[in-house]
Amino acid sequence: MSTSQEIVFPRHVVVIGTGAVGLMSAIHALDEGLQVSLLDFNEAGSEEASSYGNAGWLSSHSVIPPVEPGMWKKVPGYLKDSLGPLSIRWRYLPRLTPWLLRNLASARRDRIRTTARALRTLVADARNLHLEVARRAGVAHLIDTSGVLHIYRSRRHFDNDAFGWGVRRELGITWQELEGESLRRREPDLDPAFGFAVHVDEAGHCKNPGAYMQALQAYALARGATRISGRASGFRVEQGRLKAVLTDQGEIACDAAVIAAGARSKALAAQAGDRVQLESERGYHAVIRGQQLQATARTPMMVSEFKVIATQMETGLRIAGQVEFASFEAAPDWRRGEIMRDIALKLFPGLPRTLAPEDVQFWLGRRPSTPDGMPCIGHARASHDIIHAYGHGHIGLGCSARTGRIVAQLLTGQAPEIDLSPFSAQRF
Ligand SMILES: Cc1cc2nc3c(=O)[nH]c(=O)nc-3n(C[C@H](O)[C@H](O)[C@H](O)COP(=O)(O)OP(=O)(O)OC[C@H]3O[C@@H](n4cnc5c(N)ncnc54)[C@H](O)[C@@H]3O)c2cc1C
Repeated sequence: MSTSQEIVFPRHVVVIGTGAVGLMSAIHALDEGLQVSLLDFNEAGSEEASSYGNAGWLSSHSVIPPVEPGMWKKVPGYLKDSLGPLSIRWRYLPRLTPWLLRNLASARRDRIRTTARALRTLVADARNLHLEVARRAGVAHLIDTSGVLHIYRSRRHFDNDAFGWGVRRELGITWQELEGESLRRREPDLDPAFGFAVHVDEAGHCKNPGAYMQALQAYALARGATRISGRASGFRVEQGRLKAVLTDQGEIACDAAVIAAGARSKALAAQAGDRVQLESERGYHAVIRGQQLQATARTPMMVSEFKVIATQMETGLRIAGQVEFASFEAAPDWRRGEIMRDIALKLFPGLPRTLAPEDVQFWLGRRPSTPDGMPCIGHARASHDIIHAYGHGHIGLGCSARTGRIVAQLLTGQAPEIDLSPFSAQRF
């Protein structure tokens, strides 16, 4: 394996994937004076990328991995209820089993605490890191800094989540409680059956993730990055040094590469010498179109009971959530999109009861998820010149800004700003 002393500048870096992680990596690599090529077979901001259709949260407090103690008891239910908030398609179970076993093993309280501590180092200050880049890209208006809400029926329901909130408190995260009238004043359109909420001030959100991705790419191109349309399939490494990225369009000569291909990164990671456990954890959204809806979420809100996030985007009210394990290519189950739409109608009784098909848009996305809820960031086994940057699961938009900074630090031989050992791709 080569050492950081051997790095020769300027380096030509191929960033594989133009989702949030790839684009942030590219921008920070440009900041370091590197020559950058962006490689993707989809356009930046395309619906194919998870970065397009997420709930937009830039939530530095999202440190609790999506597992809960005793979760293994619920697996039969996940298999039986194909439309529940978490479901596993039977046919996919054999392939999912190794990932699932590790996922269930990570659902212990001590492990959740350890994961939360590591994730906090990565996601801390997410909103401000995004704001800084968004300003430079001329789209600061897309980043809202007014916090987010977690909504419960009552304080008793909030208390059921006491473990997660306790871990957050240990990490220095603070929030304000809103009950009854104070919640009504803040969220007048929300069904009054939801009587308790916490407001996390340090969080923010992006009001149009697809447009944000397009703007980040335009900014990178304006600063000299080039765009290559193609699909990476592997690497040419000679004596530990990267010589080229292999693509369906031929080889791209380079001396560094970043694997930021989201849920499709597993095969590329294997080509770079690392067998990682990475699943496409499918999620859905429904957008009720319209900037001026009769009823909406004034603040982005996570509703624990339904395991969804409701965010008023530039384009309409987006309800995002659901976890579905099926093969990457399996056809979308749009009934799940309809469930998202129906949850919106439950949450906001002022929305019209009948919505024309053209008023609602559905989307399926694929979160790049590891079983322990932590991404892979760091050098690859086959060559120091290849950097892993994927696996951010439910919090990839938020984490992308700091991940991009870290990728640039690794590319230029600087010490990364946080401890990367929990995020090693060699941990599996
Ligand atoms: C319903 C839902 C809600 C979510 N809500 C939030 C939220 O509120 N906040 C948050 O932080 N996160 C959220 N997420 C998660 C977040 O969207 C993802 O973690 C994040 O977008 C991942 O970004 P990425 O750049 O790694 O991957 P992607 O955005 O998926 O981008 C990967 C890119 O790589 C390209 N690619 C793939 N293979 C190759 C190849 N071989 N060669 C070249 N290019 C390739 C793809 O075309 C794609 O453009 C949500 C996800 C879902 C599904």
